[in-house]
Amino acid sequence: MSASQNWRHRPAGGAAGFIAPWLAGASEPQPELDIELYGLDLYRDLARWHTIGLRQHGIAHIAMHANTMAALQGSYQRARTQLGDEHVTLLSSQQLHALAPIVVPQQIAGALLLRNAFSIVAADAVHALAHEFVALGGELRLGTAVDEIVISDGRVRGVVVGDRTLHAATVVIAAGAWLHELVHRIGVTLPLLATQAARFVSQPLDAVPDSMPMLMFPDYHNLYLRVEQGGLLIGCEEIVIHPPTLQHDIAALQRGQTPQNRAAGVAPLADTTHHYHLWLARAFAHVVPLLATIAAREVRVGYPTRVPDMRHILGQAGTIGGLFLIGADLECGMTRGPGLGRMLAKLVTTETSTVDTRVYQPDRW
Ligand SMILES: Cc1cc2nc3c(=O)[nH]c(=O)nc-3n(C[C@H](O)[C@H](O)[C@H](O)COP(=O)(O)OP(=O)(O)OC[C@H]3O[C@@H](n4cnc5c(N)ncnc54)[C@H](O)[C@@H]3O)c2cc1C
Repeated sequence: MSASQNWRHRPAGGAAGFIAPWLAGASEPQPELDIELYGLDLYRDLARWHTIGLRQHGIAHIAMHANTMAALQGSYQRARTQLGDEHVTLLSSQQLHALAPIVVPQQIAGALLLRNAFSIVAADAVHALAHEFVALGGELRLGTAVDEIVISDGRVRGVVVGDRTLHAATVVIAAGAWLHELVHRIGVTLPLLATQAARFVSQPLDAVPDSMPMLMFPDYHNLYLRVEQGGLLIGCEEIVIHPPTLQHDIAALQRGQTPQNRAAGVAPLADTTHHYHLWLARAFAHVVPLLATIAAREVRVGYPTRVPDMRHILGQAGTIGGLFLIGADLECGMTRGPGLGRMLAKLVTTETSTVDTRVYQPDRW
């Protein structure tokens, strides 16, 4: 299938819309925490001018076992230093229950509440950003698939779109799960793995308070819950390899070839992962009783990508002058996208960055 057939995918439409300092409290300092905090600032600013469904009720990482609680206590101390005391609170099971009455307090050991976190409607935020881009003089061409990247004499010259060539001395490819397929045609190989992730929204539920923080259960597949349309938005961290990629790779192995890892996203798939999420959620009813009768009213699916070292891809494509790549979203691209985008913009315009971007170089393998 050609790129022009397969690219039509609503950007970020599947995202659960959690914008949080995911790395706050990590045992080693991580450069991505600053990237995340920049993202938080940007969406807060965007929400002043656009409706992006921003709801700031924080995020609670909930421990069900004593050893997880001990780990959260360690994170608590570090997160206070990183985010400021006022943004971080350790909650007893009863205190969590007061904020999230849908959780049975006897089933949990406690929680770490990060107040500096919010949810947004991801697709609305993308539209708002597009609006700002156009207002600044940017030109958007929607429904326009790049078929080829034109390279000559070691430099990018532009892109081919249908029967037209758009000439450009600098090209940034930000094609998500399709990044690998596009650059593979010009000889750039990335060990990018597209996975399938889904989340669903339940029927409206009276028992869910509007002010409830987002809930994450690290002891239970990172199941996450947040208020959405009067019900719950539910997902979990799973690794489901994007089936066509898997089939392609298995077929290559059967032919005695090494899989090229190309063609990450091929066609929008009938979602199956949400059935698994639904099952997982219902099996968690001893902790959150209303999950026993949960039904999926709206399902969204997307294809987050990952690489072996779990670092993003950002920088010039090998030695090809003027061609830049950004990708490997690690399923947190809504949060980190703005900071990573800024980093790349600095690299493209000034060829320097205050942050060391070597860890993200596309040719590091
Ligand atoms: C279920 C789920 C939940 C998630 N929850 C969160 C969350 O809570 N918080 C968070 O921070 N992140 C979350 N994410 C991750 C977030 O959605 C992604 O990280 C983000 O969308 C990645 O952005 P991207 O621009 O790299 O890729 P995409 O959003 O996939 O955009 C890539 C775009 O490139 C286009 N394209 C591809 N090929 C071509 C071509 N040849 N020519 C032109 N255009 C092309 C595609 O059509 C697409 O629009 C979630 C993702 C999923 C699936």
